[in-house]
Amino acid sequence: MSVAKDETAMAQGILFIVSAPSGAGKTSLVKALIERDQALALSVSCTTRAARSGERDGVHYHFLDQERFRREIAEGAFLEYAEVFGNLYGTRELDVRDCLDRGMDLVLEIDWQGARQVRERFSEAVSVFVLPPSVEELERRLRGRGTDADEVIARRMRQARDEMLHYGEYDYLVVNDRFETALDAITSIATAERLRLGHQRSRLRSLLDPLD
Ligand code: 5GP
Repeated sequence: MSVAKDETAMAQGILFIVSAPSGAGKTSLVKALIERDQALALSVSCTTRAARSGERDGVHYHFLDQERFRREIAEGAFLEYAEVFGNLYGTRELDVRDCLDRGMDLVLEIDWQGARQVRERFSEAVSVFVLPPSVEELERRLRGRGTDADEVIARRMRQARDEMLHYGEYDYLVVNDRFETALDAITSIATAERLRLGHQRSRLRSLLDPLD
């Protein structure tokens, strides 16, 4: 095996977890991050919820029925899974390991329950929590075009608060006030994590080994 090949085999990708309450703008931020950064891939989760208009199976989610999802849980296929708003969501472990083994960095867009499970299995995972600038702004965003009933908004606000209670379990906090600023912040996190000594050591073996 050549030195270059050996280096590729040694360098594992970094696993990033991004969580946020709905309304914080996480999905748009992560989408822009992936478009900007060619070395980052986005994990495609499995879910039992119905596809929304415009969502494609295998692209936005793997849409599974309850029976199939439960079977995959029993088979131990999921790195993590959780019930969120009455539906099951999960990340297949094989997909994650394949990506990281190829040296690609991977983003998991998952809730706090899934984030906890991933940290237990991948202690080196880097987690980011995205916050709205204020509770009032979050409510304004959740109201959107104002077509939802007050009780629906109140429920969404409760769910958002429940998610936000867990911000303290994350490595980084990003406030999404101005989109471009938040995007720069999240890009900087990815850049800084790649420059960490432990990571650079495995990527730059031929440069560093003679120095040791
Ligand atoms: P939505 O149905 O709006 O796409 O997502 C609802 C919530 O489920 C979001 O908070 C999202 O982060 C979370 N979610 C999406 N995929 C996964 C997953 O694979 N695992 C976990 N634990 N949560 C997920």
